[in-house]
Parts: sequence; structure tokens; C-alpha cells
Amino acid sequence: MIKVEYAERLRHLPPYLFAEIDRLKREEVKKGADLIDLSIGDPDLPTPKHIVESLKRASEKPEHHRYPSYEGMLSFRQAVAGWYNRRFGVHLDPLTEVLSLIGSKEGIGHIPLAFTGPGDVVLYTSPGYPVYPVGALFAGAEGYPLPLLESNNFLPELASIPEDVLKRARLLFINYPNNPTGATADEDFFKKVVEFAGRHNIIVCHDAAYSEIYYDGKKPASFLQTPGAKDVGIEFHSLSKTYNMTGWRLGFAVGHRGVIAGLGKIKTNLDSGVFQAVQEAGISALNTEDADLSGIRQTYQQRRDALYTGLTEQGIHVIKPEAAFYLWARCPKGFDSRSFASHLLEKAAVVATPGVGFGQPGEGYIRFALTVPVERIGEAVRRIGKSL
Ligand SMILES: *Cc1c(COP(=O)(O)O)cnc(C)c1O
Repeated sequence: MIKVEYAERLRHLPPYLFAEIDRLKREEVKKGADLIDLSIGDPDLPTPKHIVESLKRASEKPEHHRYPSYEGMLSFRQAVAGWYNRRFGVHLDPLTEVLSLIGSKEGIGHIPLAFTGPGDVVLYTSPGYPVYPVGALFAGAEGYPLPLLESNNFLPELASIPEDVLKRARLLFINYPNNPTGATADEDFFKKVVEFAGRHNIIVCHDAAYSEIYYDGKKPASFLQTPGAKDVGIEFHSLSKTYNMTGWRLGFAVGHRGVIAGLGKIKTNLDSGVFQAVQEAGISALNTEDADLSGIRQTYQQRRDALYTGLTEQGIHVIKPEAAFYLWARCPKGFDSRSFASHLLEKAAVVATPGVGFGQPGEGYIRFALTVPVERIGEAVRRIGKSL
């Protein structure tokens, strides 16, 4: 029997903070509890029919059964460019400024390999998607968290980054609409980012996975709409959340052609692209009628309003999200984020995610996902109220 030892990079992974919640969840399930799971960042709604039909048709075609092209089918990249133009008024060259990804997580995790190494710093917002610092770690670089505080509307304070960190910084990850806080960024912030990145020669990676899940008709902007943005960075996008396609694994990166080329170089050496039938379905997705999407948005809006109002009435301080399908709430007095999550599980059979799991600045908060029907949200609110 050989002795298996993990490499340094695996031994340096951050501790897994959901183990206790996972254990409690298993216990409650074993006891037969009727759990309401508000911890899952995965839409419960099905993929729209026309997209599934498109996959069925495309999967019958033998030409799609072979290796796809590395950078994605030109027709898919053209569909991405068309969508960007219609949705944001941003012009993209499908040949050099668009790259298909096996889900945006794949690109986010890989991009530090293209541009960073030992001694370099990757700036990322925290609380946030755990892949940003892990990608940096795997590349041998150092992650540097930028805290997102309620007092600053969950925008990072770029001016407070120390000079010696800035000198070594190569990448900056930002994410608006934001997971987990539900915050959005205004044009003024994006302008500051463009100026900051240009001054310090830092590549901006904007994660826009939630740009199409928004409330009250207020459409979030693309980072690339900001003048000069394409000169300093790229935007990651995903079909996962917009079209309920998390299982399909299809996303894309767009923007600065040199940055796109660098990420593409890593990918040609590691993967062989996305199944072409899935890309065909992706083209159908990107051409979805807005009426279909507004139905999905209405469903989330009902759920958001129910949970926001319900929790607020229970005396919980909730940040009203303008976009994305999460509610970020302050833990009541006497709880930290893990003890409150345990309390909700044991006393209300409601599963939520402790904020500290998204990074230390998330301590004191808890995240609820709007991925269950509105009736269940009502029931969750009743149970939480009774438990407090
Ligand atoms: C869900 C999510 C993604 C998208 O993941 P895919 O790999 O495209 O499914 C990216 N960033 C954030 C912050 C997310 O929550």
C-alpha cells in the first residue's frame, strides 16, 4: 500500500467551515425533520424548455460528438457578442474578445495560473465566492482579502490597500451583483476600479454571474460599459443562474483580448472545451425572449419580498438585495454566524449559511438563498419567528 500525501497547495486550503452545519443537517434529516433548505445557491426552477429542446436536437448531430474547438464554437461566441450588444450596448469581437468556459467557476479558478505566481498578490473581495482565493493559492500566489462592509455598501475600499501589497498585486476579483451580500455596484465605483487598475497595472476580473437576476426592474450594469474597462480587464459570465443551467456547465469570459488570450493558453493545455451540443443550447439560451426571463425574475421577486418582509417583522436586520437570489442578514444579539445557523437548524429546521464561511468579514451575518417556493419561505419565517 502506498502512502498518499497531499501536495502543499491542498494542505493550505482554508478550513471547511460548514462541517458542523452539515453534521447537524444530517442529524435533523435522520430524525425525520421537515427541513427548509435556504442554503443552496442553485436554482430550483427548471431550465426553460426551448433550451432543453435545442440540446436534444444538437446532440443527435454526429459533428457535435467530436472534440470541440478550444476557444468555443464561433457561433456561440457570436451569440455572446450579440447578447452583450443588446443587453449592455457593449461591442465585442467574437474572435478575440470572447472565450467559452466550462462554467465560469472553471475560468475564475484558472485565471491566476495565467498571470500570477509566487510573490504575486491576488486581491479579492470578502465575504465572497471561495474560488477567488483558492485559485490564487493553486497558482502559488497570495490572496489578499478586501473586506466588504455594510458601512461602505459592501464595496471595497481600494484606497486602504497598503503600498507594498499594491506593488505585488496582479489581479483584482470583484463581483456585482454580489454573492453573498446581494449588493450592486454603481457606475462611480466601476470608474474608480478602472482608474485604480490602470494606475497600478492590475488586471480586473469582474464576476457578473448574477447580472440578470434583479429586482424592481433595476438592471445591473456590466463592468465593460465603463469607459476604459476593456483596457484593464475582463468579465466572467455564466448561463447557470440566468437560465437555471447550473448542471450544464457553460459560461464565458469577455473583454481585454490579451487577458482572454492568456486564459485561453491555460485552457488549451488543460481541457478540450465544452460539448458542442451544450454550446448550441447556450445559443438558444442567449436568444431567450425577455418575457421568459421576466417570469423567472417575478418568482424571485415574490420570494425576496416575502423573506425580506417576514424576517424584518421578526426584528432581524436584513439587507434588501437589489439583485442576485440571496438575503444577507445580521445575526440577532447573542449569536455569531455559526451559532445562529445551528440555532435555526435545531429550533426551526431551517438551513442557512453562516456568513463567516464566505470569509472573516462575513462574521455576524447569515445568508438565505431564495431557492425554494414562496410558500416554504412563509413557513420558514413563521418557524424562525417562533424560535426567537
Ligand atoms: C454561481 C456562481 C458562479 C457561477 O458558477 P458556474 O461555474 O458558472 O456555474 C460564479 N460566481 C459566483 C459568485 C457564483 O455564485
